[in-house]
Amino acid sequence: MLRPLPLFAAALLLCQAADDVQQRLTGRASSDTPILSDLHELCDGIGGRPTGSPACERAIEWAAAKFKAAGVDSVTTEPFTVPQSWTPRTAEAECLAPERFTLRIAAAPYSSSTAGAIEAALVDAGEGTPEAFEHLGPAARGAIALVSSKEMKTLDDLFAEYIKSGPMIAAARKAGVAALLLQSTRPHGLLYRHPLVNSNEPLALPAAILSREQAGRLVRLAAHGTVRVRLRLLNQTGGPYESRNVVAEIKGRERPDEVVLLGAHLDSWDLGTGAEDNGANSAMVIEAARAIHSLGARPRRTLRFVLFTGEEQGMFGSAGYVQRHKAEMDRHNAVVIFDMGSGRTTGFFLNGREDLRRPLNRALAGITGLEAADNPADALDGTDNFDFLLSGVPNLVANQDAAPYLPQYHAESDTVDRVNTRELRANSAIANSLIWWLAEDPERFGRRLTHDEVDKLITDTRLDSQMKAFGQWDDYRAGKRGVR
Ligand SMILES: [Zn+2]
Repeated sequence: MLRPLPLFAAALLLCQAADDVQQRLTGRASSDTPILSDLHELCDGIGGRPTGSPACERAIEWAAAKFKAAGVDSVTTEPFTVPQSWTPRTAEAECLAPERFTLRIAAAPYSSSTAGAIEAALVDAGEGTPEAFEHLGPAARGAIALVSSKEMKTLDDLFAEYIKSGPMIAAARKAGVAALLLQSTRPHGLLYRHPLVNSNEPLALPAAILSREQAGRLVRLAAHGTVRVRLRLLNQTGGPYESRNVVAEIKGRERPDEVVLLGAHLDSWDLGTGAEDNGANSAMVIEAARAIHSLGARPRRTLRFVLFTGEEQGMFGSAGYVQRHKAEMDRHNAVVIFDMGSGRTTGFFLNGREDLRRPLNRALAGITGLEAADNPADALDGTDNFDFLLSGVPNLVANQDAAPYLPQYHAESDTVDRVNTRELRANSAIANSLIWWLAEDPERFGRRLTHDEVDKLITDTRLDSQMKAFGQWDDYRAGKRGVR
């Protein structure tokens, strides 16, 4: 006859069972899983995949087929709307005087087209501050303004590059410049897509990134006399369009209505092939579904594996997911997002939720290498956790070493050969163990915050100033972002 176990003994048994599963998941991740061949198929085979492009559609179908092959319970693609389409066609520039040479440029996302090819004097707009544009006076009108930048070395530098956009664009428009050339923040002629606005507003100015070394040469030439530049930007713009998220599910055995979500974005910019941002983690999410299905055991709660698109345009896929599933948000116990390539995971951002620190420490205690994890309290705006955060859902973003990711960010060089395969496998083990724990633990990971609590979190973490800089504040206030 079975004797009922005292409570602590039952808890101990559960821990042992969870440990055993976590060990099996970790063991699998270090074996020869298809994660690297999937990454190769996605990035080399399909390539750069801006949301709305034929390549992105192929990636969506590819991912849905991978999840089906993984043997999960269901796979669906869920439509959502992106407010504005933008497709780059032609980007050509040439220095005409005092010397003729071809300039390497890449159109900034949502840049307008020039009216055919324009030829104009180049003005040096310094670092692009409003004061620098004002200082140019009437010389700016009709000119092509060149904005210099310091070299990007850290995440903070990258963030500063984004933060300066809003005031810079406003000042450039006010000064009446014909177009903007922005010095690349990366050396060796590297070009990248640098969105200056969210795609819910038009840029209303032709703008392009210019090779760092060539920009330096133009600045030096302009200090000694007149520089003339020819610029031709042709971009196709259009109204709202539909894309789809890929959603795969393993149903929970005991609380199937409760959801633990692992997500990454499948879309990328187009100059490179989106390996670090974010093909590596897309392959990781697919592998998580495969690994957990292969256990032959169901977790207590439902696990959802989501590959979002529309992230690079302003996280429209995850925003669409939150809207579509708003009736279920109370039952989303945890959302875990990876979006920093193959950098080593050292912990998770708590996104302003100090209340998640203890349960997270418990969840990570069984994961090798994360026993003393670095879990910053910072709240992140800029990846797919954002609309869950605004909706009060417990959300985590992997805190990863930025080293392999940063230099290739949105750039031509974001290709499979830059991926740290050893760390990707280690991250895969971490993700699999963590979501298993979150789905299995009898205790709920965290509660849903009320709207007032979310408001307070936004103020306390100073997320409001970021949201204002990124043009998201009015939408949040109007109830268009996040669900209540
Ligand atoms: Zn990303």
